[in-house]
Amino acid sequence: MPELPEVETVRLGLLPYLKNKTIKYVEVLYPKHSHLSEIKNQKILDIKRKGKYLIFCLEDYYLISHLRMEGKYFINESIDSLKKHDLVKFYLDDDILIYNDVRRFGVFYLLNKDSDIYNIYPLNKVGSEPFDIKDEELLKKLEGRKDKIKTALLDQSVISGLGNIYVDEVLFLSKINPNRLSSSINKDEVKSIITSSIEVLNKAIKEGGSTIKSFTAFNGEVGHFQNSLKVHGKDDLRCDVCLNYIERIKIGGRSTYYCPTCQKLNKDQKIYGITGGFSSGKTTVINILKKLDESTYSTDAIYKELFDSSNELRREIKKHFKTLDRIKLSKIIFNSKIENEKLKEITHKYILRELFLRIEKDNSKRIFVEVPLLFEGSYNKLFDKTITVLESDEVHQRILKSKNFSIEEDELRNKSQISKLEKSKMSDLILYNNSSISNLEKEVKKLIKELC
Ligand SMILES: [Zn+2]
Repeated sequence: MPELPEVETVRLGLLPYLKNKTIKYVEVLYPKHSHLSEIKNQKILDIKRKGKYLIFCLEDYYLISHLRMEGKYFINESIDSLKKHDLVKFYLDDDILIYNDVRRFGVFYLLNKDSDIYNIYPLNKVGSEPFDIKDEELLKKLEGRKDKIKTALLDQSVISGLGNIYVDEVLFLSKINPNRLSSSINKDEVKSIITSSIEVLNKAIKEGGSTIKSFTAFNGEVGHFQNSLKVHGKDDLRCDVCLNYIERIKIGGRSTYYCPTCQKLNKDQKIYGITGGFSSGKTTVINILKKLDESTYSTDAIYKELFDSSNELRREIKKHFKTLDRIKLSKIIFNSKIENEKLKEITHKYILRELFLRIEKDNSKRIFVEVPLLFEGSYNKLFDKTITVLESDEVHQRILKSKNFSIEEDELRNKSQISKLEKSKMSDLILYNNSSISNLEKEVKKLIKELC
């Protein structure tokens, strides 16, 4: 469906062709538009736009056109294959302006020139555009609503000109989760919605709108804004900003795309990523946090669960590795860097999706996630802060011994990772693990205090 930028592109395309031309008469080929045959010898003085309505200013009338799903304008000849959907022909001085509409949902209103068009139907139902709406006006409209922000911004009486594609893009730029309640949006967020809307619409107008389905602006011209979209239609792709996977959900029956990290549902929630070298004591830290009633997750534990429960994941692993046997699998990836990367590539999408699905349902103020290869996998941007557990050599040896690992195995594992010192330099906070567990517990408590 054409949205504001597409309609503006149509207007900008038509204007130089039609301004000051005269509509001599109109041939109507579809009964719904028969009222247009009234137009005779009318000069086109201007073409304006309000929201997604085109307004042809004629000498004695305003002709208001809404393209709905698939309405298009062509000058002279339409493409042969589309000819059967030509519904109206406006005969001009030398040319013919053709209105073509495959789905036939488009509408025309013909109003007398003395009508106060902005205050009567249909234009009185069109809210202010992002270009002229005031912060207070939008805030007030949102405060009184019980729906979700995605639904509210699609309501043309709240703000006009934003359709499904552009609302997704605007909410992404404003870092607002589409599932948030309209009434929870604060003044700063309203400001951000307006600024982002102007930015998105201006950019889309400059690029001639988006050609996603069958939209062509005018005379078959296609728009290019679809190449600049950040989230809409990008499910299964990674977010430009944080590298998380874009989610696709339905809100009010409309496909909605968003990034769970950049557009947190619980906006005040802080998510911390905990990492460290092999046998550094990460899991011990997670267990201490659990004991202290903090909310914790482990990507390894999620992987283990999904390995048993997700048919989709199992199918993908089986397809590539020809086995689902854990021992066989770990042998394959231990012996080949390429196969190791392949397994990560297959699994991390499932793990991240599941992790953030659980986090969105978790109302805790703080969330701690154990991610063994946090920096190696470039997961650092998913977290508000990263924490590295840095153990002393003595503690390292103690943990190795308790796990029954040899020094050779330890060296081999460490080789495939960024060194623990490098990790601690890259992270925001360091948790020192250099004596007993009770001492580590004290360090963890100190860290929580710092985070508060
Ligand atoms: Zn993101």
